[in-house]
Amino acid sequence: MDYNKLFSEINNSIAKNKTKGKVASYIPELSKINPAKFGVHLTTINNKNFSFGDSNEKFSIQSISKVLSLTLAYSIEGEKLWNRVGVEPSGTPFNSLVLLEHNKGIPRNPLINSGAIVICDILVSKLKNPKQDFLKFIRELSGNYKLNYCLKMVESEKNYGFRNVALVNLMKSFNNIENDIDVVMDFYYNLCSIEMTCQELSRTFLFLTTDGTDPISNKIIFSESKSKRINAIMQLCGFYDEAGEFAFKVGLPGKSGVGGGIVAIHPNKYSIVVWSPLLNKKGNSYKGMKFLEKFTSKTQSSIF
Ligand code: GLN
Repeated sequence: MDYNKLFSEINNSIAKNKTKGKVASYIPELSKINPAKFGVHLTTINNKNFSFGDSNEKFSIQSISKVLSLTLAYSIEGEKLWNRVGVEPSGTPFNSLVLLEHNKGIPRNPLINSGAIVICDILVSKLKNPKQDFLKFIRELSGNYKLNYCLKMVESEKNYGFRNVALVNLMKSFNNIENDIDVVMDFYYNLCSIEMTCQELSRTFLFLTTDGTDPISNKIIFSESKSKRINAIMQLCGFYDEAGEFAFKVGLPGKSGVGGGIVAIHPNKYSIVVWSPLLNKKGNSYKGMKFLEKFTSKTQSSIF
């Protein structure tokens, strides 16, 4: 399959309609990005690579890192993890407080902010040096030992993280946060600040296409059953209150971030990353969603 040619064709067809959306502005550092950026990278399980546009430029992966922290926490903690966070779609925005009060401090799932903050709390309890240990984990997964946190982004998130602070305090009041709030939030903001290229990110997520074992290094990240479950959670919860729309139109498990990135995986086939910073009202990349919808339609590669 000549994916490179297809990428260019799909891009042309979308460009004609003019891309809509707005760059995330609630984190000032994110609003500085050039809205015209657009990159795509697809990695097959046999390590064949196809790319388009700004695929080798680093961008802030934001909430996409929530899948990676969940992977690490799940491999350490096992099924006990689900006592502290649910596996149900939230149907609310990523930073919503509404259901948290109702559910007595137990987040609906690990891919919304509240759930990811609980995952951070678990990792802070379990890891000796959470920030360094997490970095080591994703450096090995991506094969890029230079990956790092972006300190400017961390500062920006800290200064404007009012809702995240509200979420963590509410959960603490229900005894679902064990550690010091500032330590947990520092770790959370660092996770959000990681920068990767489309190529690095699609390579990093390859282990979820092959039942939890990285097909390039043959390293076992976690069991087949855990991998299947993470994919199920991505399918149901990866796009906040637009998860249904993504399943309906694209038909792959995936995860978005407010930096404009989307990763989607096709089990036993490929991992694909699209990056376009203009977001729709739900906080997902406008062009990224459109592109993936056309891609899975033209290649007939939805999982359904
Ligand atoms: N850092 C962002 C936040 O906590 C992540 C949100 C996202 O990508 N959806 O608000």
